[in-house]
Amino acid sequence: MNRHISLRALAIIIVLLAGMAAAETPNRVTILYDSFGKSPSVTMDWGFAALVEYGGKRILFDTGNNASIFEHNVKALGVDLGNLDFVVMSHRHGDHMGGLAYLLKVNPTVKIYAPKERSGVYGDNPLSSNWYRKDPSLPVEQRYYGGAPPEIIHMGAAWPGANFQLIDKNAEIAPGMFLIALVSDKPGTLELRELSLAIRTPNGLVLVVGCSHPGVEHIVKEATAIDPHPYPVRWVAPDPGTRS
Ligand SMILES: [Zn+2]
Repeated sequence: MNRHISLRALAIIIVLLAGMAAAETPNRVTILYDSFGKSPSVTMDWGFAALVEYGGKRILFDTGNNASIFEHNVKALGVDLGNLDFVVMSHRHGDHMGGLAYLLKVNPTVKIYAPKERSGVYGDNPLSSNWYRKDPSLPVEQRYYGGAPPEIIHMGAAWPGANFQLIDKNAEIAPGMFLIALVSDKPGTLELRELSLAIRTPNGLVLVVGCSHPGVEHIVKEATAIDPHPYPVRWVAPDPGTRS
């Protein structure tokens, strides 16, 4: 009997410890910015931002539409943006990057993965100055740089001090965590590059996506090359707050 009780007690302790461990490193998505829900503590607005926590990593995905509303929702939900492993900016639309000013105020050095686009708002790094047409028949004063351009021309960024890592192809950025980089071919967003986040889990690949301008079907197809069983998360949450 005593042995039976002690085994039961041991089992309970193991369950409690497992629960504590899970509480310390929760795998969940906290919606920080959205235009759904009924929670009075967060402000609804057009746009999207989410905190993704998985395997001990804390990832901010997009920053919403407005820095003040983003700040309000982050504080209302008790989220610490000073403690992030990295940030993913899905694309350059204002309703996904409007809160970057607040993020950089509280965490100015955090690594931010963003789509690489020529002359994009996140900056770029072209390999040469060969992308513009040169005409040697023109007088020197009518030619760029007097006909002697620098070998590399850097473009400015809207946030020049930010720690952007520009991505133009699929990449594994942490063990089991992938960025999928696709370009839109749709009218209105033609040539816009968008990043999606894919996380390998025992239940399949979890996909966190922004607007999916390149087409969510193409994003899922890319994801199947990583894992044949992707599981989309975006838009399943009807209410800002935490989802496990
Ligand atoms: Zn968009």
